[in-house]
Amino acid sequence: MLTALDKNLQWTTLIRLSDQEVADLKGCKFYCPECHSPVIIKAGEIKIPHFAHLSGTDCGGSTEPETSIHMKGKKLLFQHFSSLISTVSLEQYLPSIQQRPDVYISLKDKSYAVEFQCAAISSDDFLVRTKGYQNKGIEPVWILGSRINMKGAGPRISLPHWQQQFIRYSPHAGYWISYLDADKESMLFYYNLTSLSARLFTSEVIILPLTSVLFPFQLPFKNKKNLQFEVYRNSNDTWIKNKLMYNSGVNDRFLKALYLNRDHLLSIPDFIGVPTEHTLLFISHPIEWQYYVWNDGFRKKSKGSIVRFWELYNFFLRRMSSGFIRCRSLPLVREEMKVEALKEYLMILVKRGIIKEIRNEEYYVTGTHTK
Ligand SMILES: [Zn+2]
Repeated sequence: MLTALDKNLQWTTLIRLSDQEVADLKGCKFYCPECHSPVIIKAGEIKIPHFAHLSGTDCGGSTEPETSIHMKGKKLLFQHFSSLISTVSLEQYLPSIQQRPDVYISLKDKSYAVEFQCAAISSDDFLVRTKGYQNKGIEPVWILGSRINMKGAGPRISLPHWQQQFIRYSPHAGYWISYLDADKESMLFYYNLTSLSARLFTSEVIILPLTSVLFPFQLPFKNKKNLQFEVYRNSNDTWIKNKLMYNSGVNDRFLKALYLNRDHLLSIPDFIGVPTEHTLLFISHPIEWQYYVWNDGFRKKSKGSIVRFWELYNFFLRRMSSGFIRCRSLPLVREEMKVEALKEYLMILVKRGIIKEIRNEEYYVTGTHTK
């Protein structure tokens, strides 16, 4: 850590001090703001000067040994944000929730806890820390400190489960995630994310020198262009082929559902499996969740029937709670985005002439492609 209490219980931070000033402090006594046990100054060749517990100290909030890249990133973020805003603190301990964000920013109407995360974090820890802040009305700002894996042009990025937890949503930038490259002192924003599989996403990316990053972050507008038709057609074909080759119909819930409805994967209508922005919310393939939307809501309705949005949404929720549609775990994305996911798909069905919106959230079944 970069901040500790001195013997008069005054906050001391090492990051604005010269090497000589740090050396002069070495004989003084310092204490951990959290557990109050003594800490010592370590100033070596590799890591920036920092405080460390004596070995064997059991400190709840301590995740030592802290890596040099974590300390460096934390220092950069603190220095940069305090150049923009006067009310920024480093490693401030928040006793009511027993958490110590890397950087704490309080603006007039809102406070933010910035967490710079280099190592993999479990979903339990991520949720506890996130909820801890949110319950106090503090907005968590999670920034990745480990490089994002690029896969070719587009770009395509591959995100392991723990990194996916950092995904957020903004209406103009779409789904996005941020990464601070502490060595190059630049921020990378990957935005307009769309999911291709459980781990693979397409995205747009912008790289900014940290000094030009504003707070709260100003994200670019996403390019409206959707996935190219050919790309998703091919990826759907591959998915179908794999499904048929490697899953036995008896054990696969989706294939079983198709079988019971006397449908077959090779002959489902082409408005099922369409790429949408919010398909990222689901681990289930678009062919799966869109099939259930159509099957539960429209297929047995005769021409001229009226279907209401909330009816459809209830079917949709039931498919999720019973595990037919599997959702991605995204603690920073509001649950209501699932409403948007369904609305977005219904808009596509309107464009394809399957349904017509007659009133707000009321649809007329045209009789095309329904039994
Ligand atoms: Zn401690």
